[in-house]
Amino acid sequence: MSGRKARIVVLGGDGIGPEVTAEAVRVLEAVAQRFGHQFIFESHLIGGIAIDETGSALPSQTVSACGTADAVLLGAVGGPKWSDPNAKVRPEQGLLAIRKALNLFANLRPVTVYPALLDASTIKPEVLRGTDIVVVRELTGGIYFGEKQRTAESASDLCTYTVAEIQRVARVAGKLARARRKSLVSIDKANVLETSRLWRSTVEDVIRKEFSDVKLEHMLVDAAAMHLIRRPASFDVMVTENMFGDILTDEASMLAGSLGMLPSASLGSGTLGLYEPIHGSAPDIAGKGIANPYGTILSAALLLRHSLGLEEEAQAVENAVAGAVSERIFTADIASAGASVSTRTAGDAVVNRLL
Ligand code: NAD
Repeated sequence: MSGRKARIVVLGGDGIGPEVTAEAVRVLEAVAQRFGHQFIFESHLIGGIAIDETGSALPSQTVSACGTADAVLLGAVGGPKWSDPNAKVRPEQGLLAIRKALNLFANLRPVTVYPALLDASTIKPEVLRGTDIVVVRELTGGIYFGEKQRTAESASDLCTYTVAEIQRVARVAGKLARARRKSLVSIDKANVLETSRLWRSTVEDVIRKEFSDVKLEHMLVDAAAMHLIRRPASFDVMVTENMFGDILTDEASMLAGSLGMLPSASLGSGTLGLYEPIHGSAPDIAGKGIANPYGTILSAALLLRHSLGLEEEAQAVENAVAGAVSERIFTADIASAGASVSTRTAGDAVVNRLL
């Protein structure tokens, strides 16, 4: 087997960001060693630390390094030091700007419920058992980016989608469903919204023509919100527009019990993607070495799968995390009353299962 060479930009960011990305990098190094690849890591600034050092939340060196990389691994940005709402530059601007600069339009949020963590969620274990979902959220269109108007008496936000914007995210979802259990639920509000009627007919068209082996179902967003809690294990891949996705992905994240377990990927039309845990910079535990690194390590698995095309390696990382979790190697956020380990020890547990 010939090894894969890849340049991976690491944006640790703020708070626990550098702590959790350090563990994900160790895991990627272990993957490179075991499978004979060569990964080159390059660290750059984003978020609050970038503001402190350069005055910008996303310095131009970071943008150019990311633009020419094979993949980007991000920790988290933000914290109390930079939270003044009147400040001109804010850490979150870095996040929005990097997604835009890299033309990332599809946000993937997998939610896997591990048997050892069934009790960590507020939902009953018998409802959660077997849950393994990926929500694909459109990231650049819809009401968040439409024209906004405000008068003394009224306000409006325009929701717009083009056929091309819907087609490209439908293709990401179709491809993903094909590689999984071949079941796709498209979520809209087609009984009320014109953009949703366009969404529904466009998704239908793309999936029927290009992914005829994928079973497609359409569901109204209100029904989807209900079924996600009532029968989460019945879903495989879900695809939806920006605002519905924002809400449903947060709802879905609660199925897994802890924010610290959940990865995400933001993809564009090529192979370059941005991979990050869904949690923030957790200033309350930063610097203590107790953050849960599994969400970031699982983001590294998505990086291997979607940017580097290394499926076997991605599965090896996911299996290693599942193995560590099943042996109850828990950081404090998932340990409830039991014993807990440090960020480094949790990282070691994954690395040792790979070598
Ligand atoms: P948060 O996700 O940082 O933390 C929420 C709670 O979950 C905290 O109690 C924290 O300790 C815990 N937590 C989060 N990740 C954890 C992990 N890996 N292991 C163990 N516990 C974990 O959300 P917040 O407190 O609302 O926000 C803190 C800062 O992060 C803010 O500045 C916010 O703007 C920023 N933020 C950034 C991102 C991002 O970079 N993508 C996302 C959300 C929030």
